[in-house]
Amino acid sequence: LGGPEPGPQHQIRVCVRKRPLNPREAGLQDFDVVTVPCRGVVVVHEARQRLDLSRYLESQTFRFDHAFDESVPNELVYRHTAQPLVESIFRGGMATCFAYGQTGSGKTHTMVGDLSAKGQGCPKGIYTLAAQDVFCWLREPSYEQLELQVYGAFFEIYGGKVYDLLNWRNRLKVLEDGKQQIQVVGLQEEEVSCVEDVMKLIEMGNRCRTSGQTSANTHSSRSHAIFQIILRKRGKLHGKFSLIDLAGNERGADTGSADRRTRLEGAEINKSLLALKECIRALGRNKAHTPFRASKLTQVLRDSFIGENSCTCMIATISPGMRSCEHTLNTLRYANRVKEL
Ligand code: ADP
Ligand code: MG
Repeated sequence: LGGPEPGPQHQIRVCVRKRPLNPREAGLQDFDVVTVPCRGVVVVHEARQRLDLSRYLESQTFRFDHAFDESVPNELVYRHTAQPLVESIFRGGMATCFAYGQTGSGKTHTMVGDLSAKGQGCPKGIYTLAAQDVFCWLREPSYEQLELQVYGAFFEIYGGKVYDLLNWRNRLKVLEDGKQQIQVVGLQEEEVSCVEDVMKLIEMGNRCRTSGQTSANTHSSRSHAIFQIILRKRGKLHGKFSLIDLAGNERGADTGSADRRTRLEGAEINKSLLALKECIRALGRNKAHTPFRASKLTQVLRDSFIGENSCTCMIATISPGMRSCEHTLNTLRYANRVKEL
């Protein structure tokens, strides 16, 4: 793999990852309409019907810091997204990496990896890959002398409420003090001393995320999962990396649903994804107005949006199929807006 890329040039990096067409889609005669012709470029070839009912393809091109096609493994995605941000938390920075996209487009595959497939060939996700590098940097002489402790925290936001995934889904309160500091009160932080410790936390949190839920997939498509690697120096916060597997962005459109609960959840997701976009955009501009109060998600990430030393990376995940075209275009448009300064 080689070493990491040179440090982050921008505070915001926006990348896109396309997953392969899966057997189920192929079985439904869906076909691949997304190409990645060169580094950083994604093209969606949308089939449209003319008035005379003949079909033609209309292509839309998008440019990002990086675009990964279906052949790119997690390690390589990591190397161009989160890896360049890891060192910044040793220098006292705040780093954030999000996976944003439609349900089934590969967010969890990218961030968490495949925890069920034990043993060789099981792809590690960005959570684990970042933790691995944290422990490498920790042994660098210049950082070793800082005598930092490493902690992991894992929580989720569901329907605008915060639950601790390392403490039996304990419901957590988010409070703001007089100095505008946000506290997730009682959030469990577990000290970790090696990557295996971190993997145990991720597994535990993931079990907690879906236990007792009607359907694991429905639940995770409606909740944001936030895993944090926290560096402390004699108890005091030194740096933090937040790694986020967002709710499926199509859920934001559930606001018209007949079912009240689904409608409310959809409205909440919509609100948080809009607030997230605005907060990331504020990072690249002046920070006079960062609308972090607009949602729980952006509220708990406040310290990562306002610091001088904050960097963010977004991985927009997309499905390749014709049937997902509308969602794919929505994802790419959102990613475009985040990038545009
Ligand atoms: P999401 O979390 O966005 O809902 P998942 O990560 O669960 O989506 O992905 C849906 C399915 O597609 C899973 O079975 C996953 O293993 C598979 N998948 C996703 N991305 C890739 C990829 N890049 N390569 C191979 N399989 C993938
Ligand atoms: Mg998922």
